[in-house]
Amino acid sequence: MKPLLDALFLDRDGTLIVEKDFLRDPRGVRLTRGAARALRPFVLSGTRLFVVTNQSGIARGKLGWPEVRAVNAEVARRLLRSGIPIAEFLICPHYPGGIVPEYAIECRCRKPGTALHEDVLARHGFTPSRCAVAGDKWDDIGAGAALGMAQIHVLTGHGREHRRTVRERAPECILASTLAEGLAVLAREVEKSPR
Ligand SMILES: [Mg+2]
Ligand SMILES: [Zn+2]
Repeated sequence: MKPLLDALFLDRDGTLIVEKDFLRDPRGVRLTRGAARALRPFVLSGTRLFVVTNQSGIARGKLGWPEVRAVNAEVARRLLRSGIPIAEFLICPHYPGGIVPEYAIECRCRKPGTALHEDVLARHGFTPSRCAVAGDKWDDIGAGAALGMAQIHVLTGHGREHRRTVRERAPECILASTLAEGLAVLAREVEKSPR
């Protein structure tokens, strides 16, 4: 069986898990409703899952690497309990307006920058048109659109604030109330017309 897609690039906060400002406590991790179940057909077909997350809290001095890693580990643990493995978490710690000099810089990895996605594509030999991004902000969608990937915009997290921008800049994007709903639409589209 051919994988539905090569890879899914999932935003973390507001998409895969319920948005909480600068989440630092793993006990605050809540998967969005139906996310694990909706990921299953992709995983069973061989699609690899990557979480790509902007963690400006590091540059802002609000979070440290250990907190970010602990939250990521909890997300991975929750998903694995439902049989969903995350291949890798990719983190941008940067933010030009931050206060930690090392990280208060312009970078190519903060979404809508594409450096983290491109790194995965290169290392695994994935085809961008056989990949998709999902996120609640334009930043998530913009990275996917720039690389020619399918896109899912979810209305959880900050989704409603970004709805108009996404519609104007990425007309092909799948709009969905939740990640689970968007993945179901994407799965049907890919089954109908494989990439
Ligand atoms: Mg988000
Ligand atoms: Zn960065």
